[in-house]
Parts: sequence; structure tokens; C-alpha cells
Amino acid sequence: MNEFALIDRFFRALDTGGDNVLLGIGDDAALMAPGRHAMAICTDTLVGDVHFRTSDDPRDIGFKSLAVNLSDIAAMGARPTWAMLNLVLPRFDAAWLEDFCRGFSELARQYGVALIGGDTTRGPLTVSVQAGGAVDPGRALRRDAARPGQLVFLSAPVGDGWLGLAVAEGRYQPSTSDGEFLLDRLRRPRPHVAEGMALAGLAAAAIDVSDGLLADLGHVLEASGGLGADIVLDRNALSPAGGRYVDSGGDIASLASGGDDYVLCFTLDPARRAECEAACAKAGFDPVEIGVITEGGGVQACDRAGRRIDGSAAGFRHFGDD
Ligand code: ADP
Ligand code: MG
Repeated sequence: MNEFALIDRFFRALDTGGDNVLLGIGDDAALMAPGRHAMAICTDTLVGDVHFRTSDDPRDIGFKSLAVNLSDIAAMGARPTWAMLNLVLPRFDAAWLEDFCRGFSELARQYGVALIGGDTTRGPLTVSVQAGGAVDPGRALRRDAARPGQLVFLSAPVGDGWLGLAVAEGRYQPSTSDGEFLLDRLRRPRPHVAEGMALAGLAAAAIDVSDGLLADLGHVLEASGGLGADIVLDRNALSPAGGRYVDSGGDIASLASGGDDYVLCFTLDPARRAECEAACAKAGFDPVEIGVITEGGGVQACDRAGRRIDGSAAGFRHFGDD
């Protein structure tokens, strides 16, 4: 099968159109109509045997490659509308492609995201997705909007992505049900799109937790001019499975600095607390308050007993400090 037949067979069905899509897959470029809103645009690449095992279930690879991008769109407070897909495949494998598309489209359909184009080439397995979403620019959630005195929240507990990887690599053996839950969180992260849209125009700064909470909150502090944050991570900031990991002697610092959570970390003017609680309840989630923004000094984290959580090794880096 040549690449044109492949595109017709596998990708055209994912081109579901939408508000701004005048022309999707099939021409030299997609044609998008400028809408009333600003467009949030992002891209994220998953490399085989770096971000996933090439032997992983292709449905999970398809799902996660879109999920990590929709998470970035969510972190801007935008509504995702379209995606592009650049696939580098070692060989043509119809069964693999079918499953990959099934995972990708499961999420795309859920959020009404149209696949408007992409590229297909041969080489070491790599999946690169671009995504776009609409947001009123005055309501977008930017990293540079944190201010001293704002409260810091999570849209959901952190640590499950890192723990899921520990389970996948055989470094942590929890109960069967916790193991299944954590692997699912690693392989099929749910982008917090409804959460981000509910927070647009309400929260101040936001970021999605992909490199680890301590590192990602640090990015917000830096972007906002070199601020600090005092945070306390207790059981509320962990899932029940994460809590059981800590109970069994696990280190909470790993959960605070591991990556792959894809929840949102956001800051809020305390005067808007009640308004925020109402908006979050309406969107069906219960944010976790973890601390407050301070004048400077980066992230200072401790556990409920007041013990310092050391985030010095925080966050995943591809290139270390070189
Ligand atoms: P060109 O040679 O002009 O760059 P291609 O042959 O690469 O065009 O692609 C033909 C059409 O198929 C384009 O509209 C492109 O966006 C789409 N396409 C190619 N690969 C993919 C893919 N993996 N997913 C979605 N659309 C794709
Ligand atoms: Mg062309």
C-alpha cells in the first residue's frame, strides 16, 4: 500500500470538519477560516523507546499522542478544535495503524477534534501531533500571570503518571486494582479540557503538569518574573493509590517531581475563590488547594508534617544540564 492509499484508508475518516475547517485532508495544505477567537496552537512529539515502548498497544500510543496535546490546549483555557498528525513508521502494518487510529479517534471524537492533515514517512517510530483550539485572548490562561498572594490549586491529584511508569517498569508492585488504575493513568491520561475551559477568564496563571508538579510550577514562577510558592502536599494532593504508595514507605518527593500527570496547576486571586468553586463544581471537578504564591525564592514544598520535600532533582529533562 502506498502512502496515498494509506492516508485514504486510515486518516480520512478522522477528518470530521468543524467550525473553522474549510478544507481538511487531501490538498497541499488545510484551509482554516479565521474565527472570532484567538487560536492556541501547540505540538508535542512522542518518540518510540523514549516516550513509550514501541511494543506498547498502538491504541494507547494513538490516544496519548493526542491527549498530551489536548492537555496543552486545555492549559491555555482553550476549546480544542483541530489536530495534525506526523507519523514516522518503520514499516506498513495495517493492524497497528488501525489500532493507532482507534485510540486517536476515541479522544478526537470525544472533544470534537478534526484531523485536518499531517505527514507520513518511513523511519524509526515517532508520533508528532499538532493541535489547535479557540480561546478569547483576554481569557487565556498564561504562565506569566501569577502574582504574590494568589492561591495555588491542582485540577486533580498528581503523582499517578510517575507511579504508573514505576508499575510498568516493575519498580513498584501495588495491589492489582491500584496497578490497573496507575497503568491506565500512564497510558491514557485524560486531558483536562473541561477544567481549563471552566477556568478561562477566572484563574490567573495555569500550566499542565507534564514534567512534574515542582518543575512545572517553577516554570509559572519564572514566567511571572521570578516569584516563589509555598506549597503543602498532603493526602488531598494524591490519589488514593498515591496515598497507599506513601503509606507503604514511598517517597512523596517522587510523586511531586515525577511527570506525565496532565492535570492543571493554576493560580487564583483569593477574592475569586467562591466564584471559582462554583465554576469548578459546574464543570464537575473538585480542585485541590496546595498553597500560595510568594514574592520570590522558587517552590518551597513540604508535607503535612512540615518536612521539606526536596524538588532539586525535579522534572524530566531530555538534555540534562548540557
Ligand atoms: P504533500 O506531498 O503535498 O506534502 P502528502 O502526500 O504528504 O502531501 O499528504 C497528502 C494529504 O494527506 C495532505 O492533505 C496531508 O495533510 C494528508 N496527510 C498525510 N499524512 C497524514 C497523516 N498521518 N494524518 C493526516 N493527514 C495526513
Ligand atoms: Mg504538496
